[in-house]
Amino acid sequence: MEWRRRHVLGLYDFRPEEIEFVVDTARSMEEVLTRDIKKVPALRGKTVVNLFFEASTRTRTSFEMAGKRLSADVVNFSSSTSSITKGETLLDTARNIEAMKPSVIVIRHAASGAPHFLSRHVSCSIVNAGDGANEHPTQGLLDLYTILKAKGSVAGRKIAIVGDILHSRVVRSDLHSLGKMGAKLWLCGPATLLPREMGRTGATLTCDIREAVKDADVVIMLRIQLERQKTAYFPSLREYSRMYGLNRSVFSLAKEDAVIMHPGPINRGIELSDDLADCGNSLVLRQVESGVAVRMAILYLLAGGSHAAH
Ligand code: ASP
Repeated sequence: MEWRRRHVLGLYDFRPEEIEFVVDTARSMEEVLTRDIKKVPALRGKTVVNLFFEASTRTRTSFEMAGKRLSADVVNFSSSTSSITKGETLLDTARNIEAMKPSVIVIRHAASGAPHFLSRHVSCSIVNAGDGANEHPTQGLLDLYTILKAKGSVAGRKIAIVGDILHSRVVRSDLHSLGKMGAKLWLCGPATLLPREMGRTGATLTCDIREAVKDADVVIMLRIQLERQKTAYFPSLREYSRMYGLNRSVFSLAKEDAVIMHPGPINRGIELSDDLADCGNSLVLRQVESGVAVRMAILYLLAGGSHAAH
């Protein structure tokens, strides 16, 4: 397959073969990460700018690490220390950054559609690192990659995603990455956080965590996105945790070799009990590991590579 995309704005329009192509490229990138010297010259002379208008730990450092492993120059920009605080618009900020000739701008923004807007106004590649409650495509790809590594396949597997479905950009990307690969997806949360129209994606909706987790191969827990909630969606965090938190008793309903995932940051004791977060079935840190390989693949494909780097 030949890679033709200039931007990665979301997985909504990715064809299954494109998703497979990214996964294959990520596999070669992961091989680089097992070497003593974890660096290849693939993007030497190219610049990647991380433009983050919302907090991030994993995604920003992962993109930075990915760029550096490929020998790109990586520049990090965070809104709290920038001229945004002096009133500069997103477009002005981006145009000024573009004048410094980056190959790729990786953007995270609280507004859904901000990366799409930028892609129409700048000539470099844009990667969406999370836009509001819309999409988080590299998270969708790394979740798929992590499951493929752990289970060998996703087609036909029951994958339950539990939590704040309404505000989660992770779920919107997972629906594409895992759904297009043939997973049987179940979405679960309180009725107020489980939009009915999500049923149109082919996923099964339920407000009962036991039904969602029963016989599941994978359980993905989501954080309550308090920063995006404008009103009260449930009586208290304590009650939410009692009804929708994953603990040993609920997890025992899943398949014996089921795995637990979470995009992070985890609110321990709310959506996931402490012991489960760190247990042998938890893939949380493997997701972080996969993140670097997947982001290397995306940067490599966008910044000029057409086949695996050596
Ligand atoms: N880190 C993920 C995101 O940025 C999940 C979360 O914040 O809960 O969407």
